[in-house]
Amino acid sequence: MTGLDLLSPHQRGLLIGGAWREADEDRRFDVLDPADGSVLTDVADASVADAVEALDAAVAAQADWARTAPRERGEILRTAFGLIADRADDFAELMSLEMGKTVAEAKGEVAYGNEFFRWYAEEAVRIHGRWMQAPAGGSRLLTIKKPVGPCLFITPWNFPLAMGTRKIGPAIAAGCTMVVKPAELTPLTMLALAGVLEEAGLPAGVLNVVPTTRAAEVSRALQGDDRLRKVSFTGSTAVGKVLVRQSADQLQRVSMELGGNAPFLVFEDADVDAAVAGAMVAKMRNMGEACTAANRFLVHSSVAAEFAEKLGARMGALRVGRGQDDGVDVGPLIDEKAVESVGQLVTDAVHDGATVVTGGSAPDGPGYFFTPTVLLDVPADSAINVQEIFGPVAPITTFETEEEAVARANDTEYGLASYAYTRDLSRTIRLAESLDYGMVGINTGLISNPAAPFGGVKASGFGREGGFEGIEEYLETTYVALPAG
Ligand code: NAD
Repeated sequence: MTGLDLLSPHQRGLLIGGAWREADEDRRFDVLDPADGSVLTDVADASVADAVEALDAAVAAQADWARTAPRERGEILRTAFGLIADRADDFAELMSLEMGKTVAEAKGEVAYGNEFFRWYAEEAVRIHGRWMQAPAGGSRLLTIKKPVGPCLFITPWNFPLAMGTRKIGPAIAAGCTMVVKPAELTPLTMLALAGVLEEAGLPAGVLNVVPTTRAAEVSRALQGDDRLRKVSFTGSTAVGKVLVRQSADQLQRVSMELGGNAPFLVFEDADVDAAVAGAMVAKMRNMGEACTAANRFLVHSSVAAEFAEKLGARMGALRVGRGQDDGVDVGPLIDEKAVESVGQLVTDAVHDGATVVTGGSAPDGPGYFFTPTVLLDVPADSAINVQEIFGPVAPITTFETEEEAVARANDTEYGLASYAYTRDLSRTIRLAESLDYGMVGINTGLISNPAAPFGGVKASGFGREGGFEGIEEYLETTYVALPAG
């Protein structure tokens, strides 16, 4: 069995109201293998009318779904968690095929992404309001929680499973119905996930999936509909801004998980070997195609040469190749545009005065590969330090003081993830409080955890996914005023 076998032929269609079906005019689009550009398969391409039918189905299912027992919703998620765990290898293979990441990385994503189902299976039964006496005595204040209502989820291609489960998991737990529009580059994992949720007993219409090449038209139509109550988006800041604007007319609730420009600070008192190990994870997870990817390495001048040499040696030893092949550490980037954009940032950085420690270009041959690269002495204003790289390139610059490091770390429009290596506890506390980011990793290169609130500030968006906080995004609060007994 290969990953593609997870999808029966009818599952390469649209899922609307519990039925798998073709798109309007039988339109379909191809899904490519980024390792060589070949066609893996094709899937139905939803029209705006199809997407509106998906919303009709979500709206029709909402009232009954909201009335189900929390335990019932939790059990569906728990069953789906078990099914995905049983099929983890197939999910990993499927994701590796359509997205390019190595099978080992994809297994990591399956384990991580699936945990959102287990976590929210457990949270479904802990939704509660509160009861209190009014401060002046007399009346009583009661709050109750209700599902927000039908949601639209738009997900990116870089984590095809996890970016879905961390929206779908809390929405199911809270009692919301949903329309999911997966990234057109990687729709297969979401279709397979929908099949598992059906098998786990999710009622018809609660989850509807509409792959489409007409994302802009579809989002405009659905957001213009007052029956849609919530939009949750993971993707670029540019598209996030469009969706926030589109939410204004119907005053939909919005969660935005957008781009990042994560600083990775290495102080003079850091364990340099540990910092290099953390840098490998923070930089190279998902080939650098992660919103949490370390984007700017700010290293104290006294340890910069050692850090660069050791990181260069580790990055230079990585084997680049097809994600499904044994011994491969780094798969292809998602498409040709990604290779060109990463290559341009490296060329500009060198032009601006950076030195190449290792890598520096795309290898010859088919597929969208880029050689892991370390650059030293990259000017702070070089484009590579300002923009999200989204590729396997580590630009290093130096600093002299903590104050300078923090000021430069915060000197960006983004505010998602940040990292720091230091052995000084007081400094750790100062950093946690002064770094203007939604997430701060201290002496670790891996911060994502389904039990923790993931999200950013500034141009990285708002709202949190995961943790206790994640379910609040799908709940409304009704306050009931009661007289004294
Ligand atoms: P993207 O914004 O181009 O696409 C994301 C999704 O939006 C896709 O499904 C796409 O089809 C859809 N889309 C594009 N235009 C749209 C429109 N006008 N209306 C509705 N939908 C539209 O981003 P991408 O290239 O797929 O993903 C990379 C970006 O996502 C990076 O910036 C990365 O940092 C960010 N990201 C953020 C997080 C996070 O949690 N903060 C996680 C992963 C990725």
